[in-house]
Amino acid sequence: MGHLNTFPLSFKVQGRRIVIIGGAEEALNKARLAVKTTAQVVIIAPHLEADFSALPVELVLRHFQASDLDGAALVFVAEEGPDAIAAQAEARARNIPLNVVDVPGQCDFYTPAIIDRAPLTIAVSSEGAAPVLARLVRARIEAVLSPQLGRLASLAGSLRHRVESLIEDGDARRRFYQALVTSPEVERAELAGSGETAAWALLAQHAQTGGGAGVVWLIGAGPGSEDLLTLRAQRLLQDADVIVHDQLVPDVVVQMGRRDAEQISVGKAKGHHSFSQAQINTLLVRLAGEGKRVARLKSGDPMVFGRAGEEIAALRKAGIAYQVVPGVSAALAAAADTATPVTLRKVSSGFIMATAHGAEDTELQHWALLAGAGLTLGLYMGKSIAADVAARLLEHGASATLPVGIVVNAGRANRSLYSGTLGALASNQLDFADGPAVILVGEAVAAGDWADAAQMAAQSFKVA
Ligand code: SAH
Repeated sequence: MGHLNTFPLSFKVQGRRIVIIGGAEEALNKARLAVKTTAQVVIIAPHLEADFSALPVELVLRHFQASDLDGAALVFVAEEGPDAIAAQAEARARNIPLNVVDVPGQCDFYTPAIIDRAPLTIAVSSEGAAPVLARLVRARIEAVLSPQLGRLASLAGSLRHRVESLIEDGDARRRFYQALVTSPEVERAELAGSGETAAWALLAQHAQTGGGAGVVWLIGAGPGSEDLLTLRAQRLLQDADVIVHDQLVPDVVVQMGRRDAEQISVGKAKGHHSFSQAQINTLLVRLAGEGKRVARLKSGDPMVFGRAGEEIAALRKAGIAYQVVPGVSAALAAAADTATPVTLRKVSSGFIMATAHGAEDTELQHWALLAGAGLTLGLYMGKSIAADVAARLLEHGASATLPVGIVVNAGRANRSLYSGTLGALASNQLDFADGPAVILVGEAVAAGDWADAAQMAAQSFKVA
């Protein structure tokens, strides 16, 4: 990591003046930033070219004079000419931090892109080198922070003394503050004007139980790329004390949690079941019972082949609060990767997500239904038995010419595509790439873009 040439800090300007030399667009931009503070903002220019009327600034319509910098905390020079030169010299003589717009070499400080949740401020700076990048990063951060965060931060500040007297343990205090600023109930109450009452109730609960009630969030992690997570999933991951994840969730996604969060892999990789489902259920109940906020992170969508049903039943039985956060399921990631419309007018009026596992298992009764459905099929857990799956469907009357597309590592940078027909799949033992796979079957599959796919056989449906 490189070293910084600037030191980010929060500079006190309350009760002081921020002086801006210039009356054009550049001056207006700086004024917009400056009026976010409680400082008195003064514009000095013989005449104005930009419209400052919407801003609470003091307009001094004349040339610069040295006394303009009396009591100034910061000076912006946002024009060129004799006034600018005089103001620069005066600021330097008085040691007042100076920013000369668009002349980085003359600046004592730069203005960062600001995310304003007063009293909480987040500043993004590129040391003047890449303001566009800084603004881009700001937009991303804006998206994940509740607009009410500032009000909740003020609320937290106003409760400080009460919290100190009611909760002694440092960890327990941290849990309270965290609960306060992330609680949807308090946020709603704050909007309705009763935030303080809600915050008090939360504090009373924490003081009594030493930590507030635990909760389990069943979170869909999506197919395995960080940017296919929902904003809500990301936010809750940041709030969790413990992250309990499956082996299919890649490390990059797990690492989006808080750095000090405990991480438990219940590694249900195919072949080695390190935790039984009963053990996972018990683990979740125990952790939440200890007052922890548990993120139960599952690949794709938690409600699709995620054993969420069993976990939810266990949580209900134990009286533990839970919430489900949806995720992008693998079959839909596969559809997106290949631009395959799983429903398509006049071709496929529906989409079935089904397990392929147990193709040889007599317990699975759905083959006849799947073969005769006339809908697009998204088959999970079928890679190692792909030929058997195709054989089963053919046996139950599906056409050998039905298009099939297989996506290994859907939604990830290293995805691999295979395309062909049901007949070809049944009669080939294919060597697939490593990783989880979804098998898409149906006429609509031919409407996708499988141009990069390896062919299962000569009778590929590939339409170039
Ligand atoms: N809840 C998950 C499914 C879990 S079951 C979801 O909604 O996607 C595990 C199966 O999901 C795997 O056997 C495979 O069929 C599929 N799967 C999970 N991630 C995948 C990925 N990135 N690409 C392709 N298939 C995937």
